Amino acid sequence: MKTYSSLPNDERKNDISCNLCGSTDRKLYWDCGEYTFSRCSDCSLIFQYPQPVQADLSFRYDNKYFEYEIDNEEIFFGLMLKTLKDIDFNKQTTDMMKDGPEILDVGCATGMLLKHMESLGWQGRGVELCTSSAAYGRQERKLSIFNGTLTEAGYSDNQFSVIHSSHLIEHLTNPSDYISEAFRILKPGGLLITTTPNTSSFQRWLLGRNWRSAIADHMFLFSVRTLSSLLLSEGFEIVTTKTWGGIAVGMAPGFIKKPLDFLAKKFGFGDVVVILARKKD
Ligand SMILES: [Zn+2]
Repeated sequence: MKTYSSLPNDERKNDISCNLCGSTDRKLYWDCGEYTFSRCSDCSLIFQYPQPVQADLSFRYDNKYFEYEIDNEEIFFGLMLKTLKDIDFNKQTTDMMKDGPEILDVGCATGMLLKHMESLGWQGRGVELCTSSAAYGRQERKLSIFNGTLTEAGYSDNQFSVIHSSHLIEHLTNPSDYISEAFRILKPGGLLITTTPNTSSFQRWLLGRNWRSAIADHMFLFSVRTLSSLLLSEGFEIVTTKTWGGIAVGMAPGFIKKPLDFLAKKFGFGDVVVILARKKD
């Protein structure tokens, strides 16, 4: 997972309140040296505090970030396909297919998933903050990718049948704005897929501030409960929740990893969570 050996030191910092419940009552949770995470005393949301401002944060998604995305695109693509299978994506979208449906991938990187969705009959659109990744997807894959944030893209009300994001929401400085914008541009009955690290996981409990997702690029870290609350508060209903990943590769021998992975998926304490939510008709 990408992180920084030394952080940009000219970023401005914001004094923020909890993005989920608005509370300003928080406690230091993890001291990671150059950055710290706090936990909301009212709703338990974990977030970087103080937090870099969005305008400065954008500079982190530079050419180096593109190299990281392109080096890992096949691995990430494989994981996204597995996730879609886990939430029964094909079955959930069967009825949409007759209308030439539009799918939006937010944080689409180099566009590998979008290209695949187009081959299945979807009209694909992407949003990507990293300029080089967006340019690569447009030139090499002939995709329609907006370079910027979702809000800047300014899509129409009720435009999309599906909005997908994988490992995006934890990078944003205002996740609730993202979810409410997604709600606005989804058709009634449209589906929102959100994949993100899960703070109610076995590994997070085991490793604390050394957890692999407690990195400088992550602004907000969600549990199954806090992510569900956010979706519900913006008007979505929850269709499916899945988690996976008991313990990371290399952390335990196979005879321990296998059963842990199985149990994590079965009982919902996996390291990553995906929630499939629907905009109510
Ligand atoms: Zn809160």
